[in-house]
Amino acid sequence: MRRTIFVGNWKMNMLISSSEKLVQELICASDFVGNFDIIVAPSFTSLSAVRTLLKGSRVQLAGQNMSSKAEGARTGEVSAAMLQDAGCDYVILGHSESRQYNSESDKLISKKVLLASEITLNVILCIGESFDEYNAVKTKEVLERQLLGCLEGVSEEKLINLSIAYEPIWAIGTGQTANPDQVQDVHYFLRSWCEKSYGKKMASGIRILYGGSVDSQCSSSLMLQPDIDGLLVGGASLKSKSFYDIINSSFETGD
Ligand code: PEP
Repeated sequence: MRRTIFVGNWKMNMLISSSEKLVQELICASDFVGNFDIIVAPSFTSLSAVRTLLKGSRVQLAGQNMSSKAEGARTGEVSAAMLQDAGCDYVILGHSESRQYNSESDKLISKKVLLASEITLNVILCIGESFDEYNAVKTKEVLERQLLGCLEGVSEEKLINLSIAYEPIWAIGTGQTANPDQVQDVHYFLRSWCEKSYGKKMASGIRILYGGSVDSQCSSSLMLQPDIDGLLVGGASLKSKSFYDIINSSFETGD
């Protein structure tokens, strides 16, 4: 049984004071019961303040990225161990914005996946196709290439801490959510790929999230799909109400 997961990616938004305000609101509203994980990914500079407020709550912490080196001469970078030391249980890797603006390649991302897995920091690995690739019906080809590249050299036992986030680039921050049936088809493909590559046990256990302009209008139809195990939310996670509305409506059955 896969545990449902909701991740709020705050990106480069909010100073420490507004991060604290948001997380306080989230904790106040987090009296709902259920078998699911809630994770927030603030900026590096807000991690410590948010961690303090999260103590004793069910909300967990993630870093938005990390270095491909374990330590040393990498001015301006943050290592996997530093994230863990700062209270992170998770790290988001391979986000399309990191790929686009920091020229991150699949090879570089694979080094990060390896480093995180060595210290059992849970990885949320983002993959997704561009609009042109989508229109050219190359989605599955692109995703397979990204998975092969990003997981190169990562042994099967290290994959226990891995989740995959399917994030079509054309859906991120555009208000254009992918069609739930199409997302299901892609997620089924990803799970089948995992089974082919790593076996049934790994494939049935791995959590596959969808991300891309998720709001409370579309969350339940996405979450009703059998292979969508959670949601990665950007813009709508910056307000406690919209994030909570997404989580609450995810459990509506549509009856
Ligand atoms: C994201 O940043 O991963 C994301 C899905 O953003 P948004 O929800 O704003 O599209």
